[in-house]
Amino acid sequence: MDSVTLHADTWHAHLDVLFQRQRQHQYAIARTTARERRAKLRALHAALIRNRKAIQDAMWADFRKSPMETDVTEIAATTGEIRHALRYLSTWMAPRRVGVRLPLIGSSAWIHYEPKGVCLIVAPWNYPFNLSLIPLVSAVAAGNCAIIKPSEHAPHSARVIKAIVGECFSEDEVAVVEGDVEVAQALLGFPFDHIFFTGSPAVGKIVMAAAAKHLSSITLELGGKSPVVVDETADLERAASRIAWMKGMNSGQICIAPDYVLVQESLQEALVERLEHYFRQYYGGTPEARQQSPDYPRLIHDRHFSFVKGLLDDAVHRGATVRFGGRAVAEERYIEPTVLTYVPEDAAIWEAEIFGPLLPIRTYRTLPEAIAYINAHPKPLALYIFSRKHAHWQRVLDDTRSGGVCINECGLQFFNPSLPFGGQNHSGIGRYHGEWGFLEFSHARGVARQHSPWPTTSLFLPPYRSAFVRQAVNWLIRWL
Ligand code: NAD
Repeated sequence: MDSVTLHADTWHAHLDVLFQRQRQHQYAIARTTARERRAKLRALHAALIRNRKAIQDAMWADFRKSPMETDVTEIAATTGEIRHALRYLSTWMAPRRVGVRLPLIGSSAWIHYEPKGVCLIVAPWNYPFNLSLIPLVSAVAAGNCAIIKPSEHAPHSARVIKAIVGECFSEDEVAVVEGDVEVAQALLGFPFDHIFFTGSPAVGKIVMAAAAKHLSSITLELGGKSPVVVDETADLERAASRIAWMKGMNSGQICIAPDYVLVQESLQEALVERLEHYFRQYYGGTPEARQQSPDYPRLIHDRHFSFVKGLLDDAVHRGATVRFGGRAVAEERYIEPTVLTYVPEDAAIWEAEIFGPLLPIRTYRTLPEAIAYINAHPKPLALYIFSRKHAHWQRVLDDTRSGGVCINECGLQFFNPSLPFGGQNHSGIGRYHGEWGFLEFSHARGVARQHSPWPTTSLFLPPYRSAFVRQAVNWLIRWL
């Protein structure tokens, strides 16, 4: 056996021990009360606050991301989710009594929300804390054990995630396993009760196939091309300021970032002008200033830089007009916020999820044209509409499909824990945040209890000869 195989065998054995320890421990964790689970969530909340500086430093090391953005999108997003769970956990956990139909009179019924058991959480690199710890909040709230596999592409963050989780949980309950694709695939070989995956649609299919081997239930939080519709009634300042904000944030490496804009043709020039204005305001008036801006992060790794730069070069090569930005510096993995118009149909940028700071703009004449374009593509994770006219945004809502929608703003649908967050088909399966996350990590177990001394079921025991019972069945079919 060579050393590589030996090494792989060693960590596979380690994963096996971890998985078996959690399996043995799962019923003890499942029996915990709302009070005990709240104490765990409070500990996680406190650890996040305690480690705020370490989180900011890790995000700077991985992305060159500003501490302020880290505070809002990583720490506050997670602590907000914890506070929401602390407030509502008892209500979510309470068994829900349900009605009993007349033929079952004398019995009672309720739904008991029990944890799924041992869960796997596989996270991407773009929001390493948020996207591994918010699912963990749901898993812990529901009483599960969990193994988290953060992305290997944000290694500083993965180390801090491991430290934070280690401060709050024993590995019998929650463990963090660092590693690359090989480790992810080894983990997918175990019969987890639930797999919660956030990442690309391509890897989502691999995860779904692996889950099928054990019939593990899954949540797939995927990505895709999220459109922004800007109609002729839109408040241009609001639209441009928010689109520029969400496209510059994390350098566009956000699953719900506006991927492209569909603007009513009479507004294109004005929109481009306002987008330029806001990119300048946010990150600097000159290309040099924007590159120096401490508020503008870098692309995560060289392969991703080449991919995004390739989309830009391909669009320009095919005749697209660069209206703003366009600067790219490979050594820094820097790509300037870039606005493109007149991008030919055959450009790759219209097919792939951009996941970077390029904003192609296309025009439409009538709203049905914009709707038809959206519907000709896989259902996106997010859909943004900027319009002052209720009839317009209602029409877009009615005639399109997407994971979530946000009207006259960007990103609100993610930050409200009362809303389900998730995609449809190519953009995902399942949902989480708040009660939706609790339900995703729970099994709704139907419980029926017979307490009648003369149960109605006695009527239906064989042999089936009685005319009275036949009559009763006829009556049941017709009327009950
Ligand atoms: P990715 O799919 O490459 O990787 C995600 C995770 O899967 C990582 O932990 C990685 O180690 C693991 N992985 C990679 N290849 C694997 C394989 N062959 N088998 C098993 N595991 C594997 O995604 P990424 O590049 O980290 O993130 C970008 C993607 O994630 C984008 O498509 C984005 O839209 C999506 N995303 C979705 C959401 C959401 O909430 N829906 C949030 C963030 C990112």
